[in-house]
Amino acid sequence: MSSSITHSLLSRELVRLNASPVDKQQAIDEAAQLLIAGGCVEPAYAASMARREAVANTFLGHGVAIPHGLGEDRHLVRRNGVAILQVPGGVEWNPGQRAHLVVAIAAQSDAHLAILRRLTRLIQDEATLAQLATTDDPQALIAAFEEDRIAVADSAPAADLAEAFVWTVGYPAGLHARPAARWVEAARAHASRVQVRNGDEVADAKNLVALLQLGAKAGDQLNISAEGRDAAAALARFRSLIDSLIAQEKADAALAARRAAQPKTPGWTPPEQLVCIAGIAASPGLAIGVVHRLTADEAPIADHPTPLAEGGTRLHEALCATRQQLTALADDTARRLGAADAAIFKAHGELLNDTDLITLTCQLMVEGHGVAWSWNAAVERMAAKLSALGNAVLAGRAADLRDVGRRVLANIDPALARDTLAALPDACILVAADLSPSDTATLDPLKVIGLATGQGGPTSHTAILARTLGLPALVGGGAALLDVAEGTSAIVDGSGGCLYLNPSPAAIGSARAWIAEQAAVRAREAESRSQPAVTVDGHAVDIGANINLPEQAAMALEQGAEGVGLMRTEFLFLERASTPSEDEQHAIYVAMAQALGGRPLIVRALDIGGDKQVAHLDLPHEENPFLGVRGARLLLRRADLLEPQLRALYRAAQDGAQLKIMFPMITSVPEILALRAICERIRIELAAPFVPLGIMIEVPAAAIQADVLARHADFFSIGTNDLTQYTLAIDRQNPELAAEADSLHPAVLRLIRLTVEGAARHGRWVGVCGGLAGDPFGAALLAGLGVQELSMTPREIAAVKSRLRGSRVDALRTLAERALACETAAEVRALDGAAS
Ligand code: PEP
Ligand code: MG
Repeated sequence: MSSSITHSLLSRELVRLNASPVDKQQAIDEAAQLLIAGGCVEPAYAASMARREAVANTFLGHGVAIPHGLGEDRHLVRRNGVAILQVPGGVEWNPGQRAHLVVAIAAQSDAHLAILRRLTRLIQDEATLAQLATTDDPQALIAAFEEDRIAVADSAPAADLAEAFVWTVGYPAGLHARPAARWVEAARAHASRVQVRNGDEVADAKNLVALLQLGAKAGDQLNISAEGRDAAAALARFRSLIDSLIAQEKADAALAARRAAQPKTPGWTPPEQLVCIAGIAASPGLAIGVVHRLTADEAPIADHPTPLAEGGTRLHEALCATRQQLTALADDTARRLGAADAAIFKAHGELLNDTDLITLTCQLMVEGHGVAWSWNAAVERMAAKLSALGNAVLAGRAADLRDVGRRVLANIDPALARDTLAALPDACILVAADLSPSDTATLDPLKVIGLATGQGGPTSHTAILARTLGLPALVGGGAALLDVAEGTSAIVDGSGGCLYLNPSPAAIGSARAWIAEQAAVRAREAESRSQPAVTVDGHAVDIGANINLPEQAAMALEQGAEGVGLMRTEFLFLERASTPSEDEQHAIYVAMAQALGGRPLIVRALDIGGDKQVAHLDLPHEENPFLGVRGARLLLRRADLLEPQLRALYRAAQDGAQLKIMFPMITSVPEILALRAICERIRIELAAPFVPLGIMIEVPAAAIQADVLARHADFFSIGTNDLTQYTLAIDRQNPELAAEADSLHPAVLRLIRLTVEGAARHGRWVGVCGGLAGDPFGAALLAGLGVQELSMTPREIAAVKSRLRGSRVDALRTLAERALACETAAEVRALDGAAS
């Protein structure tokens, strides 16, 4: 948006007073003519507006109608604009509904939302509306709309979609939600319109639902075109992005095919005939437990009418809060489970931008319904429409839409938050009509041992997440599944796709034996994971896990972690609507320390800012948040955030927690001194024990001055994600530069070397908790550079340990020297395999 021009939507030539169309069709025509004459739309837009009337009701209420073109005809919009046809005598819109103000909208997706928000506020002011319906002052109408300065992004002046290319879908699974969300992101990065056509179907590339509705399959020929000032550049970048996704899509498809071909891993065969509900195998493994039915929360949403202005604001705030939560969930999922799983929640975020959904909600509110009821009804209607298209991929998206819908509901009214997963019995097999991806991602694997859903397919997001979590699961079990009584004893076979009911003791014994056999295999694997990371010639490297919650500790230890090298505490803030209290934080830190049973724990003080924005803190908007008030800079400005956290940590230390505190984004000595002074004051106030205070090395300034900073810090942990971003001047979130943001760049490695040398001068130790630590080759290099501790995502531990255990430290040192002498990251990478 920031690169777009902004301008107001209404001008004198877009207002026509005192019109008297004979009917609705004429009213729409006249309003369309205003938009055409004002240069907002192509002439064909008038027909599109008429077509929309045939499929949707555009009467907003209170004498206001909002005709606009069909979503797929957005390419006919030249610039955002609103035309107003004032009809003092009114014109019948629908039986019993008369329009006095016909507000014709020409808008790109985001602009549409802004206009509707303004209208929902205006519409509750009936006195003003009555005046506007008869005023002879066009300026009064303009002012009513301009009051809030609805300045919205304008697509650049347009011609036809001048730049175009044909692209054959090279994604084996077609254009599904995850790549489509990347397309939307890429299209939105430009002011120009980007359009995708599949046969007769056209979609605005900035709208996820529209893209999915193209139903583009592998091999389909898409016509991709753009218009606007930067059309050529936009199209070139767009093309390189969509091409760049092919490799990943192919790899994902190959993996899926391998998995499909593989399940012949000797599955379990019951020793006797058992009652079985057959479904589709979604995630391999066997689990014995009792059924816990997750009844879809079908309690009707109460309809509490709210004043429109208030409803509009609550909806807007709930949408913003949901966006933030989904970003946090995507971020947390990326760090815990991996980028591919996280993309699910990025795609969810896009669903919130669907203008039809917002329009429908606003219409229902204007009709007098409450905001929660209206939102829920709109989501249900849209989801039903997607399911009815008879396309499996779109049906899957209906589940996603309902999932996102529920999140928004909980943000509109916390009482509507579903808490169905809160009180689960131990060792249960969760049986549900469907399970949302966000519920699946946050399941407690200690309580839930298997899943069985009536709907969904093996490619549903829930199935993907179940595989990542290692939970046996079947999907598509049909209605029979929903008749299974709560508490029924059952065996879920995620490899064979069966839920066996009321198994006999013999069957349970046989299943147990099979599980024990599998467990023995896993134990042998775990055995090697649990060995220390000691090189062949006896050099030990400490291995930690990057986890955020006490519940994740058992899994991390099982994966071979020797402690926690990075607990990102901002996630305690990001996933909720308010700041956790000192007591709540204290309880979490104590629980984490207890779960680790005395093993090392490094808690990082809040690292907010940059890509981690916490909605409820209402921090000022920054043009370049990565270069702004983030990390330690924010902590030093916000005692209200820092001090309760430090008190919670020192109280945990007083209760016996073995922990270290680490501060993010340090750039200078005064920052450390100031933070140390605050820590010391709090420690003395609480009479708490000494706690080592370390800093993250994430900016080149800190690495270069490491020898000085080391005087004042007890340890260093290098955040290679940020250190790479700041060293190479590449925004870590920029997908186009992702391949170049390589932590193996020799410049980054040289800064790591400087850090290790600086620390050594004062006898400090250095760890790495950024992504490079979890890459086996990166880990080998870091050990060679003299790093003593590596902390990573738990699932990466086994491979890193195995690499280090197979290496000689002198070879690693030589490897490091050679890497430092390389000219490029590619040269460094080419050393992989050369020495270990
Ligand atoms: C890093 O920057 O490498 C790091 C570990 O911190 P985060 O990814 O949380 O910014
Ligand atoms: Mg960082």
